[in-house]
Amino acid sequence: MVKITINHEKCDGADCAECIDVCPMEILILDGDKVVIQNKEECSLCEVCMDVCPNEAINVEDD
Ligand code: SF4
Repeated sequence: MVKITINHEKCDGADCAECIDVCPMEILILDGDKVVIQNKEECSLCEVCMDVCPNEAINVEDD
């Protein structure tokens, strides 16, 4: 199962949103100015969201 964690204390939300732009599965979306997770079971574990995040605010793992 995929486990996706967003550290909202580090995440810049709508001011950044790099992960939203790169996610090929549209897992990451904005809810107001906050990045949230939807349909996490469709995550392909590509890890590009982790790669682009400037704040190391997102973590994706297979658990
Ligand atoms: S690992 Fe890939 S598919 Fe999963 S949330 Fe991140 S960018 Fe989207």
